[in-house]
Amino acid sequence: MNTATLNPQKDPMGTAMYDFLLTGKAARLRVLSSMFDEDEIDVRYLFRTEEQMPKLERKALELARGHVLDVGAGTGCHALALQDRMPVTAIDISQLSQRVMQKRGVLDARCINLYDFRLEGTYDTILMLMNGTGIIGTMQNMSSFFARMRTLLAHDGQILIDSSDLKYLYEDEDGSCDIDIYGDYYGEVDYSMVYRDVKGEPFDWLYVDFNTLRAVAMANGFRCEQVMAGDHYDYLARLTIR
Ligand code: SAH
Repeated sequence: MNTATLNPQKDPMGTAMYDFLLTGKAARLRVLSSMFDEDEIDVRYLFRTEEQMPKLERKALELARGHVLDVGAGTGCHALALQDRMPVTAIDISQLSQRVMQKRGVLDARCINLYDFRLEGTYDTILMLMNGTGIIGTMQNMSSFFARMRTLLAHDGQILIDSSDLKYLYEDEDGSCDIDIYGDYYGEVDYSMVYRDVKGEPFDWLYVDFNTLRAVAMANGFRCEQVMAGDHYDYLARLTIR
């Protein structure tokens, strides 16, 4: 697995977060993909408070316990909501994200890749939110992901992760699905981001439906339950070691 971190020259999202922190506003954070029309991320959303979070995320915060590892922590919104109640280690590959988290008061913010073995520790809760399965990248990476989770989780630890089923993008009006069942899994997406003159490298991002996640989790020795369904094909799952 790739264990790299992002330097600021190639980090559009980090630059956008840093701008917003310093000035209270940001330019457009554009999201490009070979599969979809251009989209945008509202940078303000990355700074949401607990009250502003979707119900799936509030549920995840409610279920968090023990020492928490927040993976891909962004601006640290979840870490900030939890750290008064329990110890939180917030990691992100973005140096700018780490700086933003530190300036916002996240007590333990580190710039490190999830797959970097210098990241050690035993965590009771691993939090991966805002399509947390995205970081897994592709279906092919699933077994490496679960192997890595095993090295970081306490024996009775839990992973709280959200995702959505992209099938609605392929559904026709009559309810039939236009998915090539012999092709790659339909939730595998490629993205790249652009912010002002900062262009990021393309990266893989995975959306996975609950049944597929559960099947793969079971094959890798994990139990997987759906904690809550969201409003739009999204869900929060809880994974534990079997
Ligand atoms: N969880 C945050 C941010 C989600 S965006 C929120 O809910 O607002 C996803 C974040 O994951 C980005 O900040 C990105 O830099 C980070 N990331 C991507 N791959 C990663 C990896 N392998 N290890 C750690 N962080 C990663």
